[in-house]
Amino acid sequence: MLRRFAYIRAKSLDEAIDHLGAEGARVHAGGTDLLGCLREHIFDAKKVVSISGIKGLSSIGKTTDGGLRIGALSTITEVAEHPLIRERYRGLSQAASEVASPQLRNQGTIGGNICQKPRCWYYRGEFHCLRKGGDTCYAVEGENQFHCIFGGEGCYIVHPSDTAPALAALEAAVRVAGPSGYRTVPMERFHVLPGQDLEKETVLQPDEIVSEILLPPPAPGLRSSYRKVRARRSWDFALAGVALAVLFSGDEVARARVVLSGAAPIPWRSRAVEQVIIGKRLDTETVKRAADAVVRDAEPLEHNGYKISLFRGLVQEELSAIGKD
Ligand SMILES: Cc1cc2nc3c(=O)[nH]c(=O)nc-3n(C[C@H](O)[C@H](O)[C@H](O)COP(=O)(O)OP(=O)(O)OC[C@H]3O[C@@H](n4cnc5c(N)ncnc54)[C@H](O)[C@@H]3O)c2cc1C
Ligand code: SF4
Repeated sequence: MLRRFAYIRAKSLDEAIDHLGAEGARVHAGGTDLLGCLREHIFDAKKVVSISGIKGLSSIGKTTDGGLRIGALSTITEVAEHPLIRERYRGLSQAASEVASPQLRNQGTIGGNICQKPRCWYYRGEFHCLRKGGDTCYAVEGENQFHCIFGGEGCYIVHPSDTAPALAALEAAVRVAGPSGYRTVPMERFHVLPGQDLEKETVLQPDEIVSEILLPPPAPGLRSSYRKVRARRSWDFALAGVALAVLFSGDEVARARVVLSGAAPIPWRSRAVEQVIIGKRLDTETVKRAADAVVRDAEPLEHNGYKISLFRGLVQEELSAIGKD
């Protein structure tokens, strides 16, 4: 059952930011994650500030430099189906199509998707674990088959969003509105590791709001993709996933961003793979070396060692496929 809280429908960003300055206030966009968290008492809110009525936050369109602006309230369906995103940022369109179910994609927003809370079952259950301010991580010696193989320090969640790795690969930036104006944070630095802050998932302050996501113009020759492996065949979060953004010059890779999902508490950039493929043709030998490189520094827990072969296979297949596109 939901505990009582004040509910505000903000009409402007300034009004929303003002309300978010109060203790225990939370942003409400599509509500698909927030309301579940409040209902399950994962955390409480004294005030819930709806931003869904704020004009200008739900459009998608070209920027003056030829890039793309995606308003934070754009639904995941809109991101998946927008013709410009399909044509120029295919990896993002694919990632958005992989999110949850059609109903959740129609209700959930892109801003909410990159800010959603972790899915660790101890965190979502009645366990007062480290991330909730307790003194134990129950996953370390518990049921950790869906936890991370990189970047876990005290807490071993995996970042749950499918769109965030695709955005990071495409070098997107997040525009954030707060009490002293706007700031722009590269997607790659938007999420924080447990080693930086155990109780936060993003760099956002409580009174900050993601207003839009900015994508740079795609360079000629840029190809992007996203693929995830899940436990069930219908909707589910990624056990392992890979977002690619590869710039080709002729047959060779001139530039590359490789970002993993289901791997780490943040979208995990695999510089090891990038180093193997840059300057090379994606032939069988290079792709095999890249697949070995992706798991070189992995630190699996007791029950998630299967992710090693998943990532290896996924990177091998996706690099081979993008080389043939
Ligand atoms: C059954 C189920 C399956 C799912 N499967 C997947 C999946 O496979 N892949 C995947 O990526 N996701 C999945 N999700 C997550 C889903 O995509 C998110 O719930 C959704 O994207 C959140 O968007 P929302 O607008 O509803 O956010 P809300 O629920 O309104 O908010 C989510 C969080 O983000 C904060 N927030 C929202 N918007 C902003 C903003 N503009 N600025 C600052 N903070 C903000 C809120 O305070 C809250 O903490 C699943 C969810 C469910 C319930
Ligand atoms: S992995 Fe993180 S969220 Fe899960 S139990 Fe451990 S500390 Fe809590």
